[in-house]
Formats: sequence, structure tokens, C-alpha cells
Amino acid sequence: MLVPGALKEAATAQVTVQALRRNISVLLGAGGNIAVLTGPDGKLLLDAEIVTARPKVFAALASINADPVKQLINTHWHFDHTGGNEWLHQAGASILAQENTRNHLSKETRVEGWKHTFPAAPASAFPSTVFKEDHTLHANGSTLILKHYSPAHTDSDISVHFVEADILHVADTFWNGYYPFIDYSTGGSIDRMIQATQANLARVTDTMIVIPGHGAIGGKSQLAFYRDLLVGTREKVAALKKQGKSLDEIVAAKPTAATDAKWGNGFRSPKDFIGDVFQGV
Ligand SMILES: [Zn+2]
Repeated sequence: MLVPGALKEAATAQVTVQALRRNISVLLGAGGNIAVLTGPDGKLLLDAEIVTARPKVFAALASINADPVKQLINTHWHFDHTGGNEWLHQAGASILAQENTRNHLSKETRVEGWKHTFPAAPASAFPSTVFKEDHTLHANGSTLILKHYSPAHTDSDISVHFVEADILHVADTFWNGYYPFIDYSTGGSIDRMIQATQANLARVTDTMIVIPGHGAIGGKSQLAFYRDLLVGTREKVAALKKQGKSLDEIVAAKPTAATDAKWGNGFRSPKDFIGDVFQGV
């Protein structure tokens, strides 16, 4: 799916609320998953969905409680995670992100994989606080540890660990049940996605809840399946490319046939995903 289709879909797609653990819930809609931490400091959100999802996100947040959103953290710069930055900032939220999120939002940025050029966002959508590698904050009785991935899906991705609840949001390094998008235009690559997934697996415990950027809430076994999918597809596509096969020939060989029916219906079709892998091997 390309950007105009996603904007259209998000305007009508349901946004559902799922309680996870302690005072943390997740909003699941057409764009990136939003984690919500509630308490006396007001709501803290991880990510802000697609801009057109605003009425649905607003209603979902109101269904949790009447508290205002005071803080927003962007897990990376993409439009399906930062689309609500402007309205949430205007509603009183401060915005925190890795510095490359602000860099990309502050100027025109082309994403070849989506055949789309994003204009600079309005200044009120920019993160007001940025960091480079690590950042720790405390809100609503929770400790949040933020860590920058070396470039993975983009150059701006971060993970967020809610320490006491033992919930890990891994941004768009993990798509649970959908082929991932890999944004080569802003620093992503298949090998970096695999490295990030290995790093996620090294951290995850049997009891940890993992919030993917897209798809259902998961844990260690779903992450391991996804790692095998990325590694296996990379191996198959690299071998065929080495034999001199073109992208069209590799797509026709269906290297992802076993998962296409389940995983190929999101942002990336099997053909898109194979193309994203082909580009990096
Ligand atoms: Zn993304």
C-alpha cells in the first residue's frame, strides 16, 4: 500500500484498545501501534498514528480515561507514527524522539520505497526534545528506557522498555504478521533489520510483552518466527540474485510462498517485500 491509500484507510479503520499490563494499553489501528501509559502525570503515548486517524484515536484515548495527553514519544519519523504529532502537541503534549526523527520531519524527505516525497512537517509537529543514543525518563510510576537502534528500518528507530511492566515496544523493527517495510531512503536495510531483530531477541524474556510497530501484540516466539522469516528470505533471495536472476524472476520463484497468504496483506505485498530484500543483498 502506498501513502494515499494508507491515509484513506486510516480515516475509517477501527482503532481498538487492548489492556496489556499495569497501567499500559495499546491502540491498534491502520497505522503504527500506539502504547498508552496512564496515571497522575497524564497520558504518555508512544507514537501518534496516521493523521487521518485522529477522530478514532481521540475516541479510543477518551475511552481509557479523561486525562489529557501530556507526553508523546515517536518511535521513528514515518507518517504512520508521527501523523498525530501536530494535533497532540496542540492538545498539550510535549514530543520526544531520536534526533533523526526531527531531522526528517523538519525538511522535505523522499521515500523511494513508497514513491512519495513528504514535505517538511509544520514546526508544531517537531519533537521538542531529542536524543542521540539512550534516554531514560520516569512517568506515572514507570521507568522508560529508550534506546536507538543502529539504523534498522530507518535511521531514527528506537525501542522503549517499560521496566516495571516489562513491556518492550520495538517500533517498526518488528511487524507481527505482515511483511515489513524497509526504508532504504532514510537508512534502513534488510541486514540492519535482521541485526535489530537479533538484538530484540537477545533482550526478550519468556514473560516480556512485545509491542510491534504493526500487527498483534507478541512475545518471544513471534519474534523468533519473524527472525527466521527475515533470515530465510534473505538467504533465498541472495542465492537467486547471485545466480544472476532478475527481481522479476525471483518474485516468480515465490521464495516466500509459505507465508504469503498470511503475511502479504499489509503495507507490503510479497512482491514489495522481496524487492526490499533484493535491494540489500
Ligand atoms: Zn515505519
